[in-house]
Amino acid sequence: RKRSCLSRMKIKLDRLSSYIHDSVKPLLIAGPCSAESNEQMLATAIELKKTNTSIFRAGIWKPRTRPNSFEGVGTPALEWLKNVKEETGLKVITEVAKPKHVEQVLKYNIDMLWIGARTTGNPFAIQDIAESLRGVDIPVFVKNPLNADIDLWLGTIERFYNAGVKKIVAVHRGFFAYGSKKYRNVPQWQLPVELKRLVPGIPLICDPSHIAGDKMLVKEVSQTAMDLNFDGLMIETHIDPKNALSDQQQQLNPMELKELQDNLIIRNRDVTDKEVASSLKELRSQIDRLDDKLIDVLRERMHLAQLIGLDKKNNDITILQPERWKYILQDRTGKGIKEGLSNEFLILLLRAIHQESINIQMKVMNSKE
Ligand code: PEP
Ligand code: MN
Repeated sequence: RKRSCLSRMKIKLDRLSSYIHDSVKPLLIAGPCSAESNEQMLATAIELKKTNTSIFRAGIWKPRTRPNSFEGVGTPALEWLKNVKEETGLKVITEVAKPKHVEQVLKYNIDMLWIGARTTGNPFAIQDIAESLRGVDIPVFVKNPLNADIDLWLGTIERFYNAGVKKIVAVHRGFFAYGSKKYRNVPQWQLPVELKRLVPGIPLICDPSHIAGDKMLVKEVSQTAMDLNFDGLMIETHIDPKNALSDQQQQLNPMELKELQDNLIIRNRDVTDKEVASSLKELRSQIDRLDDKLIDVLRERMHLAQLIGLDKKNNDITILQPERWKYILQDRTGKGIKEGLSNEFLILLLRAIHQESINIQMKVMNSKE
């Protein structure tokens, strides 16, 4: 299977603090899934002023999975969003999915826009939206695509960057997985973490609402995001969730959002305590030494694989020996579990090692010498 080897993008984004001055950490974006009425919007926004919310969200054009669901009220809601901005001083953000939406959003002076998960997965739409933003200085929040494809997410960010957008924020909203029980969209935390490594300086926001799909789970997901150093949260909040026209189960009311916010544990990103710093330093140097050893062991192991490959080649034996692989898997997971390592981790690790071993033997097998 092709696994693209991604290298860091050469881009320079504006810092989050350069355009969202008033935000306390974490940056809090809240508001309903959908704009339903001027009253619903204002009532929600006024309550949200009692929280740390600095950006008010509401969907106007809703990309629903099935037709005949509530698809948003469209352009009239821009007026309501503008009212929220004027009455409360909150910044406002909404979703755009095509250049027509961008045109409307700019006409109404909406502060920011987000790209939904379904749109991120569509390069044609993204290219068109990006072109419509050329020369416009507006922050763009890019949700991850529905499928766990980091290239698609990156590609969307690149298309906006290439069109001159310098204020880009990535939003992790989980990934669709058939049959998932706990989450509506499974969080695969390693993807946003990898994205942050690949795109230097990109702010990372988590949307726990669309990950959870259930209001009872929103807090847990939010806390995980904070522990992973996310810069902020986008949480669906409705003045009366039970009667919401979309995403009822996952929306909090403003009181519940306040409670969530007050109970979030925000850990320090930087180590300031001297004792903690020196203890961390010592533990890390031990880890560095162990990692050196690991690399040494792996190098030695792969060298043996090469010798085995040569033997197999000279004697016309297939590379994959299912019995041997079965034995390795059973023996090593058994030993590892006894040492307190998790079965899941052991299988992942052994599979990766075994695959590399096969790759090396393939090379030997196919070389002309
Ligand atoms: C939303 O934020 O309401 C939404 C539709 O999100 P997503 O694109 O992540 O599904
Ligand atoms: Mn929603």
